[in-house]
Amino acid sequence: MSSVLNNFNDDTICAIATAMSDAGIGIIRVSGKDALTICDKIYVSSKKEHTLLTHKPNTIKYGYICNDQGDIVDEVMISFMKGPHSYTREDVIEINSHGGMLVMNEILSLLLSKGCRLAEPGEFTKRAFLSGRIDLTKAEAVMDIIGAQNKFALDSSRAQLQGSIYKEVKALREDILYQMAYIESAIDDPESYDLTGYSDKLKEKVTAMSEKIRKLLKTADEGKIRKDGIKTVIIGKPNAGKSSLLNALSGNERAIVTDIAGTTRDVIEETVRLDDIILNLIDTAGIRDTEDLIEKIGVDKAKEKVEEADLCLYIIDSTSEIDDEDKQISSLCADKKTIVILNKNDLTGDIKISKDILPMLFSGSDSVDFPVITTSLLNGEGIEELKRAITELFLDGEIAPKQEIYITNLRHKELLSKTVESLALVIDSIEKDLSEDFYTVDLTNAYVYLGEIIGEEIGDDLAEEIFSKFCMGK
Ligand code: GDP
Repeated sequence: MSSVLNNFNDDTICAIATAMSDAGIGIIRVSGKDALTICDKIYVSSKKEHTLLTHKPNTIKYGYICNDQGDIVDEVMISFMKGPHSYTREDVIEINSHGGMLVMNEILSLLLSKGCRLAEPGEFTKRAFLSGRIDLTKAEAVMDIIGAQNKFALDSSRAQLQGSIYKEVKALREDILYQMAYIESAIDDPESYDLTGYSDKLKEKVTAMSEKIRKLLKTADEGKIRKDGIKTVIIGKPNAGKSSLLNALSGNERAIVTDIAGTTRDVIEETVRLDDIILNLIDTAGIRDTEDLIEKIGVDKAKEKVEEADLCLYIIDSTSEIDDEDKQISSLCADKKTIVILNKNDLTGDIKISKDILPMLFSGSDSVDFPVITTSLLNGEGIEELKRAITELFLDGEIAPKQEIYITNLRHKELLSKTVESLALVIDSIEKDLSEDFYTVDLTNAYVYLGEIIGEEIGDDLAEEIFSKFCMGK
């Protein structure tokens, strides 16, 4: 099976490629076979002559964009990259204008009036992909570089754009293709190709391939955490110290700390950078049954947030008594990665809850599986220990931090898992001594799944879906 992409448009597209806000410089990008002739209609040189058709490729020129009346719209620098030596492999022109929204929109309108079509989101990169200049993993890396929120995300997207995943997947595909071709040749021409002992060799090869993919898959969970951060919910009864914890972690006074129970009413989202990972913190109104309607909104949201969180920070005022509310909260986080924080440790004379009595909260167990950290948020005690506990809970020491390939894209992860499943079926067929035809079916499936990762085996719908998530002008 080969790629079934066929909706390749050959019209000329344009879009504002820089941010949709006022800035010093803005770039309007044009790509397609008529890029030069269309831009020539609106651009004049410093001597006010239409000279673009003689513009040398890969150079940048100074001049003006003029409207139909010959009035100057803006003073610009214009560059011309002749296909196939361009981002899309088509003729590409980039107009560097002033970065005001009004002026950029006027230039865009002029281009549209002269025959350009407004590009769809991601259409420039889609053309780069369809023309074969980049594979799908590289196209996705472009988007990830733009959206990278931390150094890890940026580094892994950069490696992906350099072909780290493409090379790995391509090599696996070639190995599978070789085996498929060998089996087919042997079936067609048994005199020239000997299949005696072949299944053992194949089993060895397929096992090695599966191992390789499993290693990649192992990086996926950690890769996602390192790239996107840990969705963290802080839960606990009113006054336990949730707002204080949020402030201690984020190092500012964003949440309002107060000693009136239940005053943190809104769900506040905050991002905290620890050394290696980001916490996407959500503070909540506290989890408890209440008749107060405004609080109720907060409480329901809190329950929802616990469900979607990767980590629960369950904070307990160690000077209070354990009650039903605590039991309700602990049952919410029973199936989550949780860290229990025993706060207000400075009030030494009043401590009622210690680590030893926690098991009664998490019913059915003699000990608490979760890390328990003692803090005094009043004076910052225990915060460093808490940060270490979070990192240890999520970052598996087995994966080298400098590892070159991390699977951070869910689509890649799912397709790699399907590939491993198909390869397991090949091994199964070999072990059951089934005929070679059986191997071919599952090898073909594995080959196709890997092809989907790099975009050699995808249909229009999927390509549409992937590129529609891109931003305008990219
Ligand atoms: P929340 O309702 O769970 O968000 O709790 P807050 O963070 O608003 O804290 C409630 C009260 O407890 C405030 O007066 C805080 O200053 C106080 N508090 C928080 N942590 C500590 C602590 O470790 N020790 C003491 N003594 N007081 C604390």
